[in-house]
Amino acid sequence: MNCQYCQQPTESIHLPEFDDYGAFIRFCHACQAEQLCWSSDEAIISNSLYAKINNRLYRWTVASSPVVDQLGIPFNIVGSLWHVIDAIGYEPGMGTFHTREIANMEHIKTFRGEIAPILTPQNIEQKIRTWLMML
Ligand SMILES: [Zn+2]
Repeated sequence: MNCQYCQQPTESIHLPEFDDYGAFIRFCHACQAEQLCWSSDEAIISNSLYAKINNRLYRWTVASSPVVDQLGIPFNIVGSLWHVIDAIGYEPGMGTFHTREIANMEHIKTFRGEIAPILTPQNIEQKIRTWLMML
């Protein structure tokens, strides 16, 4: 499958912890775009983009299917911005849901519903810089 941004072939990454979960990662190095996919049908679980700003690595992740809140109401889109704390050698393409990595990510901001913005490899740096100024 090709990258949704640059249309070039993505790299398929299989890690043991993702195999256990029944999932794998597609990664585009040029775009720093990461997709978490189910192994069974290759459906996309989440889309992530990475950007390095002032020597800090940020990850923007959007779930591809509706997420249900505490009241059982589905969100159309949930987008979350994380600061990747790089102390353990985490790199883009290593995925997201493994506990060790999650513990080393600092949550910065979450958007819900229709206000979730569309980020691309072209606009991600500008968007994150703007959000960081507003925090
Ligand atoms: Zn790409």
